[in-house]
Amino acid sequence: MVYLYYNIMAWMKSPERKGGKGMKRWQKVTVAILTATLSFTACGLYKNESSAEIYAMNTFVSITLWGKDGTEVLLDSENFIYNIEEQISTTRTSSEIYQMNHNSGQWYALSPEVLDVLEYALDMAERTEGAFNPTVYPLVSAWGFTQSEYQVPTEEALAELLPLVDIAHVSVDREEGQVMLAEGVAVDFGGIAKGYVADYLADFYRDEGYESAMISLGGNIYALGLKQDGSLWNIGIQNPYGAGAVGSVAVEDKAVVTSGGYQRYFIEDDEVYWHIIDPRTGYPAKTELASVSVVSDSAMYGDSLSTALFVMGLEEAQEFWRTHGDFDAVFITTEGDIFITQGLEKIFTPVKEYTGQLQVVYE
Ligand code: AMP
Ligand code: MG
Repeated sequence: MVYLYYNIMAWMKSPERKGGKGMKRWQKVTVAILTATLSFTACGLYKNESSAEIYAMNTFVSITLWGKDGTEVLLDSENFIYNIEEQISTTRTSSEIYQMNHNSGQWYALSPEVLDVLEYALDMAERTEGAFNPTVYPLVSAWGFTQSEYQVPTEEALAELLPLVDIAHVSVDREEGQVMLAEGVAVDFGGIAKGYVADYLADFYRDEGYESAMISLGGNIYALGLKQDGSLWNIGIQNPYGAGAVGSVAVEDKAVVTSGGYQRYFIEDDEVYWHIIDPRTGYPAKTELASVSVVSDSAMYGDSLSTALFVMGLEEAQEFWRTHGDFDAVFITTEGDIFITQGLEKIFTPVKEYTGQLQVVYE
């Protein structure tokens, strides 16, 4: 390549070129190809983009890093994701969470990182007054979402399970690193784990010196730094009722996490039942909301929060935002209207085809 480069440079300086006419057609074509090859190589060196795509945690995971070569880092990332999945899966019999859930009534030791996620989830349950609740598992399971064997449970069955859904049934012994669930209680990290992974990976990439990365786990996006060209990331907000996006938010170093009924559901007797359960009623959370996207610094916060806000419904969710104010959100209603919190006023852009209402929620 270097040799060819010098040949081109020599020709550029040559009297033959300056004369301009002496170049034969085959020479012109060769030069064009070589120049294209060189600039492509230079461009590749400049960008040095590395990416990986895997299926894990019941979703498609895709990661792209810009900067130095990311081969090793991506391999480590994949291992991390597979390991954490192995620890927290509710269905793999070998996982810590499965074992803890099946040993309720006894102390069960958890790895420090799993305990961290559990404590964070319990804290979010308190903050959201139970709209997000990791002890929702018996309900999620009764609706068949864990085994993908969907069914509508009887009212009696739900009434029996509801008292189990309460974080007061979870005792944490931080010092010994162990947890005891009351008899019949079980936890599920489905509403928070992807956020945890996204945050972990973002920190990992920062530590490794990457200034630009895109992490996507299902509805959980983490946009690290700025794009390679120095501009903001445009993160699409999925249209809950069709393909494509309703708009996008322009962000730097933010998590954008979406919860929506469209993400996982089944239909029985013309009724749609989705995977986000209102822990207070036992039924899928049905409000005027079709989806909630949270824009925040932490993906774990955004993940647990988007699930909680979806359960709360538009009014309560807006109140929660006014009280806490440490995030922004895009709410899409079942009517197709969009509500954005004040912080997104200048950075949310609806797609051209969008015809519904766009309303800003102020403090
Ligand atoms: P997400 O997609 O993040 O909104 O989370 C939905 C997943 O979290 C479901 O598939 C369940 O595993 C679990 N889940 C459902 N409802 C709740 C809830 N109210 N609080 C916490 N986790 C939930
Ligand atoms: Mg969530």
